Amino acid sequence: MSIPVALKPSARIDLLHLHFGIRPAIRTQLLLHEGPKQAECIRWIRRRGLHVINDPDGFVVISDSPALSRHILAIDRSPVAHTYHLGRALGYPHCCCLKAASFGDEGLEKWALALRRRSFDGLFRAIDPRGYTDGKGLISHLPCSPRCHASLRMAMQLWQSLLRHGYPAIPIDGVLQLFRGRRSAGTKD
Ligand SMILES: [Zn+2]
Repeated sequence: MSIPVALKPSARIDLLHLHFGIRPAIRTQLLLHEGPKQAECIRWIRRRGLHVINDPDGFVVISDSPALSRHILAIDRSPVAHTYHLGRALGYPHCCCLKAASFGDEGLEKWALALRRRSFDGLFRAIDPRGYTDGKGLISHLPCSPRCHASLRMAMQLWQSLLRHGYPAIPIDGVLQLFRGRRSAGTKD
């Protein structure tokens, strides 16, 4: 899936979650807030039958329900702590939203740095958040731990959907090779 230049590479993962019904809504930031690139991007999203709302800071909420998009934007603008509720509305696992809320929005960078030093072993490499910024990964949130099963289920859902719909060129090659390696290792030809 090639995406408009006004979207961050990481938005590819979010859009795939939305496309395959893995999450009900996504939130991302436009790279170019003003100008034709932004308008072009909004049209690209709408052409896919999706509803999109943008806020003054260049963030967009995309879903197939106008009511849900508005609800998420309202949570996001709320002056009270809303990390947990925003995460849940965006379809992230309960455990990961609780963990994120314990850090708060302002502490998430700290949690991201801590996760970078942890090792993700075996299949759990599929939930390693390090490739997210470049659009290379299968989840778009910080998992609550390197062995979060709810996040792994989400990653597997995307991986299986990609294979089923023939997206071999998606740039998550490292992860796909990991799975292919396991599958062929267990196959007796
Ligand atoms: Zn979790």
